[in-house]
Amino acid sequence: MPDAFNERLRLIRFRRKREHATFREELRIIPKWLVWTCIILYALALVIGLGVNLHGFQTGGAVFPGDESLRNEPVLSCAGLAAAITACALFLTLILCMFGYVYRDAKRRGMNAGLWTLLVLILSPAYLFIGLIIYLLVREPLPFTCPQCAATVNARFNFCPNCKYNLHPACPQCQREVADTDKFCPYCATELTHAPKPFAEPSTSSIPSTNS
Ligand SMILES: [Zn+2]
Ligand SMILES: [Zn+2]
Repeated sequence: MPDAFNERLRLIRFRRKREHATFREELRIIPKWLVWTCIILYALALVIGLGVNLHGFQTGGAVFPGDESLRNEPVLSCAGLAAAITACALFLTLILCMFGYVYRDAKRRGMNAGLWTLLVLILSPAYLFIGLIIYLLVREPLPFTCPQCAATVNARFNFCPNCKYNLHPACPQCQREVADTDKFCPYCATELTHAPKPFAEPSTSSIPSTNS
C-alpha cells in the first residue's frame, strides 16, 4: 500500500512539472468577490473601531489599548488600534483566501473541491497552513492539450480520447510510466529513446519547457 501511494505521488509530481503557472497566475484563482468582501469588511472594522475609540476619548470611555496608558495620546492610540485591526484583517484574509484558492483549484483539477476545502478548514485552527501544504503536495495535475489534436485531456488519461495519442510515455520494457526527460527507465534501467514528441505543455502555459 505505501508503495502504491509513493508511486502515485511520483506520477503526480512529474506530470505536474509541466505546469509553469506563476504565483500571480495562481492568485487569480482566488474569487474576486471574496477579496472584495475582505476589503469591505476591513474598511468597516477600521471605521467602527476608530469611531468607538474616538468616542471613548470624547466621553471618557474605554480607549485602546485598554490599560489607559495612551489616554492622553489619541493619535498614538488610534494608530495602534488601526495597526491591530490591520494585522487581524490580513491574517483572516489570508485564511479565507486559502479556502477560496483550494476550492477553485481543486475544482479545475477535477478533484473533490468540497472535501478538500473541508480538510483545509478542519486543519486550519490547529495547524494553520498545514492543510494547504498537504493539498499542494497531493493535488492532481491540470488538464492539458493533446499535442496531436489539441483537444483538452484530463491529466489522468493515458491516451487522448479524440485521437488515441499516447499521452504518457511508458518504458517499453516494464510498461511503467516515465518522464519525457528520463534517459533511462528509473525502474528497470532500460535506455529510453523518445522518438516522437511525448508530451505537450498544459493548456494554461505559454512558456516553453526547459529541462530543469
Ligand atoms: Zn488528441
Ligand atoms: Zn522500465
